[in-house]
Amino acid sequence: MRGDHADSRPRLSVREGLHKIASSEETIVALSTPVGRSGIGIVRVSGSAAESIGRQFFRSSSELRHRQAAVGRWETPEGEVVDEVVVVLYRHPHSYTGEDVFEISAHGNPLVLNRIIRMIQSAGARTATPGEFTLRAVAHGKMDLIQAEAVREFIEAQTDGQARIALRQIDGAVSRRVSPLKHRLVNLIAHLEAGIDFAEDDVELPDARRSAGELFEIRTNLDELLRTYSYGRLLNAGVRIVIAGRPNVGKSSLFNRLVLMDRAIVTEIPGTTRDVLSESSDLNGIPVRFFDTAGVRDTVDRVERLGVSRTLETLAEADLVLLVIDGASTLSEEDRGIRERINGLPHLIVANKRDIASDVDPAIEKLEPIWISAQTGEGLENLQASIAQILGGDRAQSFGESILTTARQNEAVSSAIVSLAAGERALRDGIPHEMALLDIYQGLSYLNELTGETTTDDILGRIFSTFCVGK
Ligand code: GDP
Repeated sequence: MRGDHADSRPRLSVREGLHKIASSEETIVALSTPVGRSGIGIVRVSGSAAESIGRQFFRSSSELRHRQAAVGRWETPEGEVVDEVVVVLYRHPHSYTGEDVFEISAHGNPLVLNRIIRMIQSAGARTATPGEFTLRAVAHGKMDLIQAEAVREFIEAQTDGQARIALRQIDGAVSRRVSPLKHRLVNLIAHLEAGIDFAEDDVELPDARRSAGELFEIRTNLDELLRTYSYGRLLNAGVRIVIAGRPNVGKSSLFNRLVLMDRAIVTEIPGTTRDVLSESSDLNGIPVRFFDTAGVRDTVDRVERLGVSRTLETLAEADLVLLVIDGASTLSEEDRGIRERINGLPHLIVANKRDIASDVDPAIEKLEPIWISAQTGEGLENLQASIAQILGGDRAQSFGESILTTARQNEAVSSAIVSLAAGERALRDGIPHEMALLDIYQGLSYLNELTGETTTDDILGRIFSTFCVGK
């Protein structure tokens, strides 16, 4: 009766796993601000030798005190001043990493910053690997894995919505939701184990149905959490919306409208503008990339030629297609052909040129399109609302504080649900509690994997390798 997802990957305690990647005996150093010229650049040192290394080069008339900024000079052993700096010393465990941390704010000149880093290395620190500061924070119990993932997401956020959710995760919103459920599972396990241990001593056996009911409730809670991933995934990865349609229906006009409607145009993605024009925007906090396929202008037998064009490739990768038709004209063979092509994809039919559409073709009416005028802007808010609805962004509010955002989190919660469901079935079917317990233990172990109490050795490597150095 073991859950289908039971696997045999070796599980380690998080500390063991972390020590494989980073040995906290070593003191690490990295530039924590972007490479390049700037007002200031920050060099961060973490580890047991951080303070003594800092003291070797930092000269000041003021005393170094925990968490207090000190102004002074960064000097070579020969007394040459490298820069005027401000430093802050954080003594363990009251630092980001949980170790002693020495942070140097210098002038943002790469030459100066590199020199400071080289001096620190010469004193025995090594260069930090990507995400190693955060990894150490996890190793020292300053945060769990979900929070660590959220740190990366926060840094990489492209919209306010992404940043807001990431910050809630850093604050522990998901962990706070999962931890009482784990607690209930542990209690249930203890209860069932006691029943087994004392079965011979005539102790009343725990009521299997009540235990199954408890499992059901826990699972329902996890189901709710799992549903947030449909939104969290889009929030994290962003969505691709492709605008398709025959020439002159107003695709480019709509594209410009949609992209410009939001004042928060995030970035221009280089390298995609040759055939298919693309621009990023922000829809209810979800980063959206709109693709205008008007760049591909075939002349003869356009629908057939779609088969070989970039348009088709772009369409295949679309999360949503907006099929634009000319509402002031009749539905043409070409419109129908393109519609057939996209039928299997999530799409919305948009009838444009509302402003000049007087006698509407009944064939168009039958499609029940969303009416807009890219010229006047009429209907665009309605279109945006329909897009948000399809993407699930309109449900974001109801998800509350905690949202799953990574595939790893989704997998862990899904697997936990599968195992707990198997345990629940076993209890209801009157199968011996020992068997049900196997599934329940497995479910708990997936939840521990989610927050990082236990982990497999490859997971940590995967998470932290995507961090930038210096975080
Ligand atoms: P595309 O070839 O599908 O990208 O179409 P364009 O955006 O280039 O538009 C084709 C023509 O239709 C241009 O002359 C636009 O000014 C015009 N057009 C686009 N949208 C509207 C609209 O909503 N109303 C009117 N009256 N004209 C429009």
